[in-house]
Amino acid sequence: MACVRATSWRWSVLSAVDDRHRRQVAFGPFGSEGQAALAAATVAVVGCGATGGAAAELLTRAGAGRLILIDRDIVALDNLHRQVLFDEEDAREGRPKAVAAGEHLRRVSSAIRLTVEATHLDASNVDRILDNVSIVLDGTDNISTRFLLNDWCFETGVPWVYVGAVGGEGMLLPIVPPRGPCLRCFLPEPPPPGSLATCDTAGVLGPIPTAMGAMAAIEAMKILAGASQPEARKLRTIDFWDWRVRDIALPPRADCPACALGERDFLHDERSTRVIELCGRDTHQILPPPGPRLDLEALADRLDAESDHLLVNRLFLRLDLGAERLTVFADGRALIEGAGNADRARAFYDRYVGT
Ligand SMILES: [Zn+2]
Repeated sequence: MACVRATSWRWSVLSAVDDRHRRQVAFGPFGSEGQAALAAATVAVVGCGATGGAAAELLTRAGAGRLILIDRDIVALDNLHRQVLFDEEDAREGRPKAVAAGEHLRRVSSAIRLTVEATHLDASNVDRILDNVSIVLDGTDNISTRFLLNDWCFETGVPWVYVGAVGGEGMLLPIVPPRGPCLRCFLPEPPPPGSLATCDTAGVLGPIPTAMGAMAAIEAMKILAGASQPEARKLRTIDFWDWRVRDIALPPRADCPACALGERDFLHDERSTRVIELCGRDTHQILPPPGPRLDLEALADRLDAESDHLLVNRLFLRLDLGAERLTVFADGRALIEGAGNADRARAFYDRYVGT
């Protein structure tokens, strides 16, 4: 009976504090202190596709105070088997993922503060976009952005969670500077292009990125609550198809370029990738050198005769030419769908946007 009274009292107090999250607060190891830390946190989600989108939604529901949603891509039909924030209308309209993710999450919680960055994160904008974040979640699909995040997080002391999913596998590594291990303890240099499995070459089983995004959200909550144990920060690889779990508990490398030697090659590297093939379909991203913002309305006037399918708003311009589709953002960045290869994508950009 005493136990019942104690439980009732506890629930009534929790209800007064935060009815929405009371079942989470009731989990002792997280508790009201963890909830308060989460509510005070700003979480950057770099890449709002399958893993990042799942983590973003779960942290929104869990009560994160603020999310920064960063994504350079647009929603396509072949995203929908795994990217849970988007629907057919988003794909039909080819909406920027960061924008569509923000609108979805706004319907989940009116309390959360959202910042939408429909852009490519690189060395030139990382300080501005990640200013004052509490933690960074990796939802990217490429290794170069992960090396940038690793350098930036060790430079600033912000924790980050590396997470990936490809084929039937997922992998996860929570990283908490200044202590290693970090990404470069495991992978000192980026592998050559084309040498890693991608969701283009190996495919990806739809539910796996969501499972990995959930694990990333849990790790973020532990880190923010001060409950992440250094000895538990291992590279965990899960083969979901054959149910094999592998933990690699690597001690921090004494010769790690990032966490031991303090090199920040990827943070200060001003070279920009001009054309990037996006994971998952025939889409290339064109990144012009930094310059003045595009006048999208003026560009729309120039392109008006090219197609009956021209759409322009303050965020982007879309030109549909049948097999190929061009989406240009105000910062000059563009996505070319259907070009077939990087050179054709570059030519397509030069032809319609100009460099
Ligand atoms: Zn390291």
